[in-house]
Amino acid sequence: MDTDHTGVLIIGAGQAGATAAAALRDFGYQDRILVVGSEQPLPYERPPLSKTMLSGSGAVADILVHPTGFHKEKSIETLLEAEVASLDVQGHTALLKSGKTITWQQCLIATGGKARTIAGLTPGTAHIHYLRTIADALRLREEMRQCRSVLIVGGGFLGLEVASTARSMGLSATVLEGADRVLGRAVPPDMSAWLRQSITDAGVDLQLNARCESFDVRADGVSIGLAGGETLSADMMVVAIGLEPEVAMASRAGLSIHSGNGGICVDAQCMTSAPDVYAAGDCSSQTHPFIGSEIRLESWQNANEQARLAAAAIAGVPTAPLNAPWFWSDQFGNNLQILGMPVAGLRYHRRGEFSNPDTAPKFMLLGTNEADQILHAIALNAGGDLRQLKPLIDSKTPCDPISLCDATAPLRPLVRAALARTPTLTVS
Ligand SMILES: Cc1cc2nc3c(=O)[nH]c(=O)nc-3n(C[C@H](O)[C@H](O)[C@H](O)COP(=O)(O)OP(=O)(O)OC[C@H]3O[C@@H](n4cnc5c(N)ncnc54)[C@H](O)[C@@H]3O)c2cc1C
Repeated sequence: MDTDHTGVLIIGAGQAGATAAAALRDFGYQDRILVVGSEQPLPYERPPLSKTMLSGSGAVADILVHPTGFHKEKSIETLLEAEVASLDVQGHTALLKSGKTITWQQCLIATGGKARTIAGLTPGTAHIHYLRTIADALRLREEMRQCRSVLIVGGGFLGLEVASTARSMGLSATVLEGADRVLGRAVPPDMSAWLRQSITDAGVDLQLNARCESFDVRADGVSIGLAGGETLSADMMVVAIGLEPEVAMASRAGLSIHSGNGGICVDAQCMTSAPDVYAAGDCSSQTHPFIGSEIRLESWQNANEQARLAAAAIAGVPTAPLNAPWFWSDQFGNNLQILGMPVAGLRYHRRGEFSNPDTAPKFMLLGTNEADQILHAIALNAGGDLRQLKPLIDSKTPCDPISLCDATAPLRPLVRAALARTPTLTVS
């Protein structure tokens, strides 16, 4: 029988898996670390897949989480193109699809998720694209280079980034969004309106309240029938309607799965309902200390931060709790960053102008609650300003939003003054 033993088994060689392996070594973990991943390449960053990787000529080697040679240097073993089929959490055993058995002392599940699909639009079908992996991105890039038009189903971050890249490559792009505004769950209405303008200014046909009723895929292209009777046609289609967390194996192993968000439930240290089994990244659901409720986040920062928590718990060292959620998107020539989380009842204040005839737009929207804590901040081409506010936001320090929104006033002294009223906090 083909059996192997490891100290830590990491299932999933993606952002969280790779980061956790590195963090384990940073935290002094000395036993064997084995990362098993179903994809062929070494762990790579996914954010470029909808941005530079689509428009440029880059290859996976350009976007690796860690450089080639890193794993050897850190004694981190990888087993790629290998899938864990089942997990026995009591017996501390994993069974690979190949038939190999791996016993482990601790296990981290970092299996991410899969693109949500539309029935009848099978991944891999000619002219139909989903975007989750480097293989998806290279296939999409290839067809975008040969086509003149693309229909994009879904006006979330991914759909908008693909539309932005398509326009930069000279394709005509139509985005079909079911909601009545873009990014409605992530930004306030003013910001959605601003984005809508920037999207249409870039030449994208953005259709809100769109109901896709039928799909037709032919040798020469694709068509979508909308409620209301209109039919739209293009050379190709990208479906970007969200992610299904990859939790089937965890569920079969009896681990608790959140009934609402579908993630593997973990505690503050990222431990699942089974001792010695952790989960991190897009597949996990956790009570977030900033938000105060259980949530499954799909972001680069969350994958890295949860990986750090899990690695610290496994290595038995203390680490700081999660920071406020942070997300970024590059689209239509703008860098959008979001720190914190929208909740009902926030009042938004703006620092900077929505438009400026002489320069690129640069502004922040700060959402404060009744206690004058900033719980949600959106920065458009203002990442540097957002970084200065971060200590205030992470610590929920009350502030004067009116002074912060005076764009002529430097932020740093205002942040220092606000933090000084909370003696244990400092800003660098
Ligand atoms: C196109 C794209 C653009 C993005 N842009 C941004 C952005 O601009 N900003 C941002 O903050 N976030 C962005 N994200 C999100 C971010 O990349 C993810 O949140 C992050 O990759 C999640 O990391 P993860 O380790 O949880 O999952 P992943 O990185 O998906 O890794 C999971 C890995 O586990 C493997 N796996 C699954 N099941 C098994 C199994 N049974 N056995 C072995 N291996 C398995 C998978 O094949 C995969 O390789 C983007 C994502 C995509 C797809």
